[in-house]
Amino acid sequence: MSSADLTAEAERQLRICTACMYCDGLCPVFPAIDNQHRFELTDINYLSNLCHNCRGCWSACQYTPPHPFAINLPAMLAAVRQRSYAEYLWPTALGRAFRRPMLSIALVVGVALLFTLAAVLLSASPAVLLGSDRSAGAFYRVLPWPLMAGAAGASLLWAVLCIALATLRYWRAIAPPLPAGALLRALRPALRDIITLRHLGGGGPGCNDVDERPSHQRRIAHHVMVAGFLGTVLSTLTAAIYHHAFGWLAPYPLTSLPVLLGGVGGVAMLAGIGGLLTIERRADQQPSDPHEVQLNLAFLILLALVTLSGLAVLALRETAAMGLLLILHLGLVFGFFLALPFTKAIHAPFRAAALLRAAAEAEEAKPLARKRGD
Ligand code: SF4
Ligand code: SF4
Repeated sequence: MSSADLTAEAERQLRICTACMYCDGLCPVFPAIDNQHRFELTDINYLSNLCHNCRGCWSACQYTPPHPFAINLPAMLAAVRQRSYAEYLWPTALGRAFRRPMLSIALVVGVALLFTLAAVLLSASPAVLLGSDRSAGAFYRVLPWPLMAGAAGASLLWAVLCIALATLRYWRAIAPPLPAGALLRALRPALRDIITLRHLGGGGPGCNDVDERPSHQRRIAHHVMVAGFLGTVLSTLTAAIYHHAFGWLAPYPLTSLPVLLGGVGGVAMLAGIGGLLTIERRADQQPSDPHEVQLNLAFLILLALVTLSGLAVLALRETAAMGLLLILHLGLVFGFFLALPFTKAIHAPFRAAALLRAAAEAEEAKPLARKRGD
């Protein structure tokens, strides 16, 4: 479907929903379209990221195919969402990577692995690479600390810059014409919705993650994965403090804070990723967009590889396999950061921006609702 056809189809379905409004209360998309009769491209892009793909409206709708109205809001909004990632990404040319996410990510990660291997071969002797080393600073004899920190810092900076600029472009397109005060007041409810993934609750009973039965599986798996990720971030931060503040060089003992946080965080991440992959595999494909499924799978598989390789380094760091495993892990980490702007990770700030607009509009409407006695 061409981009213009997709926009026309989105407008057609949203107009029917506006007239129907049976799903009001399921998620913030319906209050946002209430009484709307025209949908500009930016409105559609906003609504697509406000949708959490809970599939509640798919299960509730009486106009899904084979009804002539052929309403499939989750699939249509998912298709628009993929397009919005590419449209607002910075640099714009990188948006093409969303067309074939598996291939794009594999290419970037492959190049990062080759560069890491080349850097190690140029800086370390084969004996260091293939022998076992249990002493402090062993990791930095495989890849010197300035190279390791420089590559990680530069690739992370690239990811943060691209995602921040893409989010800024998206926000400028969808930002409501509201006073700054309304936006400030909206920060708290928006933050609550973002952190709790409230709308993955499908208005209370849960999402239709796999079929028509409501469940909280996706919400729980998502929370577990994010908690695990935060654990690994804390592990990296504490390791940096050990290194710079105390001069203690990795690898650290199994009972040290960086290892405990990294180990528990890694296992939690794998559990969350496993849960999300299982849901993705079992889910009804009809209310899905195939591109979004590919994007989800590519991101989850990459995240799983990064996590597994990190845990493998942790488990086998005292063996001769440490050198090669460390190269694999570092290459995957650098590749992960470089590819991050065109992975599913972009959905987090885009959805946050959409939730902020929804919360701001709700705040602005409160006095009117009070006056009407709603
Ligand atoms: S998804 Fe179907 S039931 Fe729900 S508001 Fe739209 S048309 Fe009505
Ligand atoms: S899939 Fe869920 S979040 Fe998306 S529009 Fe339907 S009810 Fe709302």
